[in-house]
Amino acid sequence: MKFRNFKMVSYVVYGRGSFNQLDEILLPHRKQDAPMIFLVDHFFEGKPLTARIPLKGKDKVIFADVSYEPKTSYVDKIAQQLNDEFGTVSGIIGIGGGSAMDLAKAVSLMMNNPGSSSDYQGWDLVKKPGVYKAGIPTLSGTGAEVSRTTVLTGPTKKLGMNSDFTPFDQIILDPELTANAPVNQRFYTGMDCYIHCIESLQGTFLNEFSKSYGEKALQLCQKVFVEKNKWDDESDDQLMMASYAGGMSIAYSQVGVAHAVSYGLSYLLGTKHGVGNCIVFDKLEEYYPAGVREFKKMVEKNKIDIPQHITKGLSDEEFDTMINVSLGMKPLWENALGAGWEKIMTREKLRALYELL
Ligand code: NAD
Ligand code: ZN
Repeated sequence: MKFRNFKMVSYVVYGRGSFNQLDEILLPHRKQDAPMIFLVDHFFEGKPLTARIPLKGKDKVIFADVSYEPKTSYVDKIAQQLNDEFGTVSGIIGIGGGSAMDLAKAVSLMMNNPGSSSDYQGWDLVKKPGVYKAGIPTLSGTGAEVSRTTVLTGPTKKLGMNSDFTPFDQIILDPELTANAPVNQRFYTGMDCYIHCIESLQGTFLNEFSKSYGEKALQLCQKVFVEKNKWDDESDDQLMMASYAGGMSIAYSQVGVAHAVSYGLSYLLGTKHGVGNCIVFDKLEEYYPAGVREFKKMVEKNKIDIPQHITKGLSDEEFDTMINVSLGMKPLWENALGAGWEKIMTREKLRALYELL
């Protein structure tokens, strides 16, 4: 048995208004003539948050287009542009949901590694540390703020740059930044966290480390989405910590069926991570009976419509594409179903599941 020795985020600040400390936090990381680059979710263009960014000298704000989940071509384009314009930068600061944070991690790595980000999609392929990077979530749930991956869609696959160089050097968890996120988006991204917890807690890779974080994160999700009748500041505080703990839980275990199936949807149809997980999880009674029952209750209570029949009319070839992408996620299936998973999740069974969605 070889135990995982995993790299964590180096510095964490948590609290309402902690965004105001950004200037002071960045100061020691500023190098002469090398600007800080703020990669900001395009939602915040023209919003008050952007005016609070502590710009100095040649610092630059880039509004990240997150209409689609991050692509390797987009990462390469931003890294190239920064290289051409500045040669070197002091750091990349990602401000936004999982997409903007993943982009920031990937661009940081590509400032110091040659070639295309698609060369590094996989496990431990990144050779050199990136430039200093910080993540500031404005949506809670993905756990991208703590993870050692950055999920990218490349020319041939959807896979992260999974490495010890990937985690942020600093994160700033300020729940104020998540206030007023649209109800549906908040639910979908929040459910990503809920599903991380269920998949981790019901997985065969579970140990006390992931269980401790997973149980706490699950309890916080339940407070927010099951027990409360009204969204308040405390809900934002709780969901931000749920996202962090849920991310820590899967760091030492793995996700499961919903994620494995949802990756196929996203690869073929571009379905976004949060909503895709919900579409799949809704149909997983067989694998996670209690979790799915509670999920349906949360959907109803929060008045969310989960899209239905999204695979209707797809061709055999398209189903095959999704099945191939999904079955490629071997660690996820092994966590979910155990070492003999290939005998349980046959292509036929998976096809039937995709047809239900
Ligand atoms: P997102 O980052 O894709 O953003 C969704 C939408 O919400 C966007 O339109 C964005 O502009 C908007 N938005 C963000 N913050 C807002 C706010 N405060 N108010 C209003 N609108 C806001 O959504 P997400 O669910 O946070 O992230 C999904 C992405 O994260 C996917 O690309 C997925 O692959 C990735 N992901 C990464 C990891 C990881 O470990 N690296 C884990 C899970 C998911
Ligand atoms: Zn997820």
